[in-house]
Amino acid sequence: MARIDGSALAHNLAAVRRCAPRSRVLAVVKADAYGHGLVPAARALVRAGADGLAVARLGEALALRRAGVAGTVLVLAGWSGAESLERIAAEDLDAVLHERAQLEVLRARGGAGGGPPVRVWLKADTGLHRLGFAPAEFPAVWRETAALPRVAAPLHAMTHFAAADDPAAADATARQIACFDGLLAALGDGGAPPPASLANSAAVLAAPDSHRDWVRPGIMLYGASPLAGGRGERHGLRPAMTLTAPLVAVRTVERGAAVGYGGTWTAPERMPLGVAGIGYGDGYPRHLPSGSPVLVGGRRAALAGRVSMDLAAIDLRRCPDARPGDPVTLWGEGLAVEEAAEAAGAVPHELLARVGPRVERVFA
Ligand SMILES: *Cc1c(COP(=O)(O)O)cnc(C)c1O
Repeated sequence: MARIDGSALAHNLAAVRRCAPRSRVLAVVKADAYGHGLVPAARALVRAGADGLAVARLGEALALRRAGVAGTVLVLAGWSGAESLERIAAEDLDAVLHERAQLEVLRARGGAGGGPPVRVWLKADTGLHRLGFAPAEFPAVWRETAALPRVAAPLHAMTHFAAADDPAAADATARQIACFDGLLAALGDGGAPPPASLANSAAVLAAPDSHRDWVRPGIMLYGASPLAGGRGERHGLRPAMTLTAPLVAVRTVERGAAVGYGGTWTAPERMPLGVAGIGYGDGYPRHLPSGSPVLVGGRRAALAGRVSMDLAAIDLRRCPDARPGDPVTLWGEGLAVEEAAEAAGAVPHELLARVGPRVERVFA
């Protein structure tokens, strides 16, 4: 079961506001709100005062609209053809323009009298080299886009950081900010600078000069630190998800018993072993090694052997009173998801986003 704490989402949003007091907040709820449940998480964040939401794909934005979520919703992938562009306009969504093929579509549909206005966030590639227009082409694309009658004013400018989570890469982040500022200056129409958005969670915490008009936090809203080796708790964040599973069996294994598929872990003595009803079929990572931490009855215990599709074995030597039915905490309250992520060689975003549909979400 994944218990989702709506008050933690509100608390973490308030932490974003303290870090970026002059910025509006676009709460990122892509990938099922990082596994927390798209619609209930979005509603909680809007209720807590988020100025808008961001999702990766159009389908996610449409699910929000179907659920009655109004207000600003930015589709980070933007449109892929005329049909999705018109859907975005009809549903009153905001969309990112990051690619020439999208510009062709907009050119074809963007004339006067074509349909409802389109709110565009033009993306510059300042160093991530994933999406966005190269600095050399950005000003020309900006001018062309802004001049299209159907494109709503003001046009927004955005970019995305490559390594804001890594304090050792602060120089690279500073170069991206300088590149972005150079582009805005090159637009040179002498008027007010356009609304701008650069910061993900890591930059909200570590790059205050990137905050500008809109920040785009994701992971920190869910209570985890985006910084390498960090812990949400140290930034005053609270975990929004606590993932638990019951012990479905508690047994004694003999010294030398090889536990789980492949027998990768061997009992060093006669000992109690628990089996939790969770596995990679629920999104609990299969590559978590033996020894990775879990909590049983509030005490730390350790994975023993390979995680299988539905089950995970647990060394209960430090929890000898555990009984079938007792909950095992995989992460959340009392055990930071960052710790599990480090053990899995992953980032907390990945662990949270992979929690599957088989896991019941209980929103409280
Ligand atoms: C996912 C995403 C974010 C949020 O990133 P976090 O690291 O979770 O804060 C912000 N902007 C863009 C473009 C994204 O894709």
